Amino acid sequence: MFAMTRLRLPIAVFVGVAFATLLALAAFSSTAEANHSWSKYHWARTGNTYTLQLGDNVSDKWQTYLETAASNSKAYVPSDNTTHDWTDSTVLDTKVVASGKDPTKCVPTSGRVEVCNAAYGSTGWLGLGQIWIKAPNHIYQGAAKVNDTYYDTGKYSDYSKQQVMCQEIGHTFGLAHTSEDGSSQGTCMDYAEPTATKDQWPNQHDYDQLTKIYTHLDKTSTVSNTSAASTLPGAANRGNFNERAQWGQLQRRSPNGRLEVYERDFGNGNKLVTFVILADGEEEKRAGAS
Ligand SMILES: [Zn+2]
Ligand SMILES: [Zn+2]
Repeated sequence: MFAMTRLRLPIAVFVGVAFATLLALAAFSSTAEANHSWSKYHWARTGNTYTLQLGDNVSDKWQTYLETAASNSKAYVPSDNTTHDWTDSTVLDTKVVASGKDPTKCVPTSGRVEVCNAAYGSTGWLGLGQIWIKAPNHIYQGAAKVNDTYYDTGKYSDYSKQQVMCQEIGHTFGLAHTSEDGSSQGTCMDYAEPTATKDQWPNQHDYDQLTKIYTHLDKTSTVSNTSAASTLPGAANRGNFNERAQWGQLQRRSPNGRLEVYERDFGNGNKLVTFVILADGEEEKRAGAS
């Protein structure tokens, strides 16, 4: 009798913990679709609509994808003929501007987003979206990168290129993923296998989320502000941030391991947030390593 009681207690605790975990997961997944901002991070602006510059450091093979994500000015207009691009948001516009950075380093520029492609090597990632945060929660620079080491294998469709370019740029506004299980929500912010008509572009839900993030105004602006970065610790502006070792702590990994979010703390609330989409098959390697 005594022995059984001793046995039952840990089981009861285990069941209780498992149940609480399930509840927490259920609560998370019901809110995940309704709200897909990451923390409260946003560009500070003193007025709407703001225009975010996207520094063009991509080679010819990525140019169309960048311009389509930004303002749909080129090919890949969906067959329903509606426009789907980040500039369709009512709170922000994006503008592709000449930049001329070394894309292998893709050094960020205060006040805007640098977009780069290069053969970054077998890093495991297909695309990265990165935002640098100034306390308490203002984005002051961003980067979107796509890795030709994987794309040049020819394993990935043009649709996948459009999806990942669109998604990484979306992260630089403070958006997280709409879904993380591979199911289609009709937006590039999920990672369902994209088709000719879906999952390559933002959708209304993304625009609604952006409106939620950007309705309020701030007293200062980090958009086009070239001095915002100068007040930060040197480490925040040093290095290429292309490697996992430079991303800080893992904050979140999707259940199937394809998507990850890291945060690196530079002190005093200054951070780097890195959104990662892994190349096919890399999630198994990651799971084995951690
Ligand atoms: Zn604000
Ligand atoms: Zn992502």
